[in-house]
Amino acid sequence: MRALLDRYRADAEAGRLAFQSCRACGANQAFLRPFCQACGSEDIDWRHAAGGGTVAAHSVLHRAPTPDYRAKVPYAIALVDLDEGVRVMTHADLDLSVGQRVALSFAPHESAEGTLHLPRVSAAE
Ligand SMILES: [Zn+2]
Repeated sequence: MRALLDRYRADAEAGRLAFQSCRACGANQAFLRPFCQACGSEDIDWRHAAGGGTVAAHSVLHRAPTPDYRAKVPYAIALVDLDEGVRVMTHADLDLSVGQRVALSFAPHESAEGTLHLPRVSAAE
């Protein structure tokens, strides 16, 4: 799993949201696994999201889960259905609503693990 996470984080640092796509059945998955969640194949390819999506859920958080989030409260988290057909969890602007079109970007976040580049969505132009 560490190799999968390292691959994902390298793409995120370069501003690309990576997801997995099964070469055997064509299913896409955003939650990283060494196999396809649909058919079990280990023949997994990687793709990058183009950056468009639709908000499926949106929550504003007023409590920090870890000390590094204290300065960010309140902040928002969204579930976003990417145009490629995968659902991802991202940070989000505070004023988004379900069904709204959004654009993906990445924002650096200083954590105990170092600088992470976290996906974030804002209202699409
Ligand atoms: Zn598959």
